[in-house]
Amino acid sequence: NGDEQNHQSYCFYTADMNARVIQEIALEQDLRRALAEDQFTLYYQPQLDAAGEETVGFEALLRWNHPEHGIMSPATFIPVLESTGLITQADCWVLETAERQCRAWNARSDRPVRMAVNLSAEQLTDPGLLPYIEQAVRDDNLHPVHIELEITETVAMHDLQASQSVLQALRALGFSIAIDDFGTGNSSLMRLRQLPVDKLKIDSSFVFNMHTSEQDASIVRSCIHLAHELGLSVVAEGVEEAIHVEMLREMGCDILQGFYFGRPLPVSDAEAFIHPA
Ligand code: C2E
Ligand code: MG
Ligand code: MG
Ligand code: MG
Repeated sequence: NGDEQNHQSYCFYTADMNARVIQEIALEQDLRRALAEDQFTLYYQPQLDAAGEETVGFEALLRWNHPEHGIMSPATFIPVLESTGLITQADCWVLETAERQCRAWNARSDRPVRMAVNLSAEQLTDPGLLPYIEQAVRDDNLHPVHIELEITETVAMHDLQASQSVLQALRALGFSIAIDDFGTGNSSLMRLRQLPVDKLKIDSSFVFNMHTSEQDASIVRSCIHLAHELGLSVVAEGVEEAIHVEMLREMGCDILQGFYFGRPLPVSDAEAFIHPA
């Protein structure tokens, strides 16, 4: 009887596993096709100055324009891109596409337009990344000047030494570096100080409730203070309400990003945020 139960749960387990594996293989094949057939697209979310008046730049956010399911959010497929090693190819495409868009917008704007691009953990430590970017910069295909590379706190802290040297090299090329989702990892200030970065992005989870939770407001205030003490500028993510803007401005936050100002938008809609020259 015990045997039978074991056997049953074993069968159950493998059937479930099979379904999952098959599903993931199918998704992997779809993602390979997506890369080959140009099904990815970028949405751009505006970032504004502390007054909430001027657009200072955008964050490029990956979307998959799936032939059957339509626009898909990165949460559904980035983990698979990462586990299959396809993320480097995807992120390089993102970097090049966002940089080209950034150059086009700068040519038409009467003030500088910055572009933030996300890099994944797998990519930062991919030995192919740096040579690839260096080559593109050398060939004049990639202009780092307005590009900001976002790395999540957990990623950067995972392999501090490796991250340090890659980030140093990217910075030497002229990119600026931002720590994304700041406050959600468990980095010590010591380690933060060791990273060559220019900017902190306070995670939206602290911003959402800062008007109702004194604790969250304190965390945001401390992050801003800390960043400034370290000579870094600060972006608040997840700005959804007018009260957030008011509080963040009072706290001295430098840059604001969130649905209050604009959602991530396709190129044609994002353009409305540019001040024409
Ligand atoms: P992230 O880099 O922290 O990007 C911010 C996310 O917060 C975006 O979600 C954005 O749509 C969302 N957001 C912005 N403002 C608000 C707001 O006011 N309220 C709420 N509720 N959400 C807001 P999205 O586009 O779904 O991206 C999710 C995550 O996927 C990103 O988080 C980033 O970690 C990853 N990701 C996106 N594009 C790329 C990419 O090209 N490469 C890599 N490696 N990761 C990417
Ligand atoms: Mg980001
Ligand atoms: Mg973030
Ligand atoms: Mg995030």
